[in-house]
Amino acid sequence: MNEFSHKITVWYKQNHRSLPWRETADPYAIWLSEVILQQTRVDQGMAYYQRFLSQWPDVLSLSQASEQEVLKLWQGLGYYSRARNLLITAKMIVNNFDGAFPADYKQLLRLKGVGKYTAAAVGSIAFGLPNAVVDGNVTRVLSRVFGVQEAIDSADGIKKIESLANELLDKENPGQHNQALMEFGALQCVPSSPDCNACIFSDICIANMQGLVSSIPFKQKKIKTSVRHFNYFICTYNNGVTCELVIRHRSASDIWEGLYDFPLIETKEETCFLDLINSSEFLDWTKNKKYTLSKVSGIYKHQLTHQTLYARFFHLRFEDPFGDDIKNGLSLICENRLGEYPLPRLIDRYLQNIDSLDC
Ligand code: SF4
Repeated sequence: MNEFSHKITVWYKQNHRSLPWRETADPYAIWLSEVILQQTRVDQGMAYYQRFLSQWPDVLSLSQASEQEVLKLWQGLGYYSRARNLLITAKMIVNNFDGAFPADYKQLLRLKGVGKYTAAAVGSIAFGLPNAVVDGNVTRVLSRVFGVQEAIDSADGIKKIESLANELLDKENPGQHNQALMEFGALQCVPSSPDCNACIFSDICIANMQGLVSSIPFKQKKIKTSVRHFNYFICTYNNGVTCELVIRHRSASDIWEGLYDFPLIETKEETCFLDLINSSEFLDWTKNKKYTLSKVSGIYKHQLTHQTLYARFFHLRFEDPFGDDIKNGLSLICENRLGEYPLPRLIDRYLQNIDSLDC
């Protein structure tokens, strides 16, 4: 074991958090935790990990779930392609690998949604495969300790970090080494103002010694974000017994694929109600039906990685049944069954803020 790996492993044994996916060698549970924890904080991911394992304790049971069930349990975590890929991979494991995760890096990479990071994490932790993980935490630690000046989002920077990570990897115990490095980045070498005086690498860390901690890792690209205005129509019809509600199944070509929201008109800027209801999109399916505008929400801002959404909700109480006009991805449900459908966080947030749909 090299000096770097030795130091970080000793640190890990003394400082690591006790987390359930560290207490198991089950590749299914490890894979589940790795997928959930991408772009998710540990405290938030923990509840999802436990819920998934309790509902689907093994890959066979998960493979038999429906996409709607998986998306519903995933609700609130964002990046929903991860949930869809979980299901696809579970089916692949059952159908192509006899229900057992392959103990082979290249085979792991063939699974849906499994990139280099996840393959290395699952492979090293569950099977002891000698592949180094490179995630945001590992990149930050290595680029600071070794003073990497190349942009970490450039081809040169990525190559340099990957080769450093593989050179340093303890091939005897790659799972522990990988977890130690990730944990060190999560707890000690944090993105802003790490406590370098209390760090095991303070005397060799180039970023620390050269006063570059706040500028490394360096990135060349700024994330471009676009702005979108979502005008939602919460359309209800009270038939005297139940309240009917129109919902929309989101299609493949946009954010939140497979989730449900409400009929929507998207505009480039904030648009008044009159312009919205006179638009062809609106008239196309409401077909001049009579309704009352019973409530209008304030504007809800919702930030995604590359998009800023501004949403407003208009509650429309219709006087007649919707009949055959419900098509093109729209469907009619009883309002009290809305909770069974996987909803984007924005919609869930709004529903939690209101007393009722005002049917
Ligand atoms: S000295 Fe500071 S910047 Fe360097 S590894 Fe330690 S915490 Fe990170």
